[in-house]
Amino acid sequence: MSVYIDPAVATSLRGFEMPEKLGFGSVMAPVMFRAVCQDGCWSSGELVPYAPLSLDPAAKVLHYAQSCFEGMKAYRTPERGISLFRPERNAARLAHSAERLCMPPVPEALFMEGVRTVTAYCANLVPATSGESLYLRPFLIGTQADLTVSASTSYEFYVIASPSEAYHAGNMRVWVEREDSRAAVGGTGDAKVGGNYAASLLSIARLKKRGYDQSLWLNPGNRQTVDELSGMNFFTVMGGELHTPALNGSILEGVTRDSVIDLARDLGFTVHERAIDIDELLRQVADGTCEEAFACGTAAIISSISVFGDGGESYAVAKAPGLVAERLRQALLDIQEGRGEDRFGWMHPI
Ligand code: PMP
Repeated sequence: MSVYIDPAVATSLRGFEMPEKLGFGSVMAPVMFRAVCQDGCWSSGELVPYAPLSLDPAAKVLHYAQSCFEGMKAYRTPERGISLFRPERNAARLAHSAERLCMPPVPEALFMEGVRTVTAYCANLVPATSGESLYLRPFLIGTQADLTVSASTSYEFYVIASPSEAYHAGNMRVWVEREDSRAAVGGTGDAKVGGNYAASLLSIARLKKRGYDQSLWLNPGNRQTVDELSGMNFFTVMGGELHTPALNGSILEGVTRDSVIDLARDLGFTVHERAIDIDELLRQVADGTCEEAFACGTAAIISSISVFGDGGESYAVAKAPGLVAERLRQALLDIQEGRGEDRFGWMHPI
């Protein structure tokens, strides 16, 4: 496949000025990748100036939420140049999400071409400061104009990019969400689909008023074990060992979660993937058995949790920021930013 480069791309890139303060996901790179799928046939991709989409008001995505996406990063490394972190995992997860929503999976080669092309043309926009990176947002939407509840016959795949800081710097206060669920049993919890995030927003709005940062979601089947946060997976440290909820169908399988498990084992830690009972966990936080808790994800990297709020109670974690969390964060960033040896073969120079 060869990518068509719109001649207007050069002008868009020349006219772009990098702001001093990046934030997360608010500064958009001036180009985007696009490919369309009609009746199961994918077009070749094109790189075009970043611009609003033209969508029919009856497009399926707007009514029936045929929409899935990925979040990944490109890093500036001293020796290997600009590199992507485990992009094949994101390609596979987008394919899984697409299949769950009855959408055609984006072929891995097209996905890779999209993220590589955008990154290559935005090379000057990849920040050099540690913790900052070019955040990439591939997404797939159903575009057919038709109001019957059925899968779209046409789709568009895009990759947009945003030079960004880490999403959550510092300690997080999490709220145990006992009322709402972000995902259902048999639902779309293990897929990265727009609807999961829409379902999480009300909880986040409620907890912000109480002075918290993130919801801690419980399993929708038993409402008793911990699943994850709205955009991050969950870990605790007890007796120097790591514990994280086992994948169960309602948890999104994070690329960072998987990498933290490999990295921690490589550093000599024992890692348990198991069901974590929320009431037991809160008791262990209260009596200090749970030394650390942290969340991890592409956007947030690894962020310590300082407080759990539950109803009228709050439980302060003994160590926040935690030493284990800090060590893992540094080890992960060392690989991603090219200071440490890439001993797992995770980095893909573009
Ligand atoms: N859980 C959810 C619900 C998420 O949205 C994310 C972010 N993609 C994660 C976990 C972490 O996944 P990753 O490490 O692949 O970013």
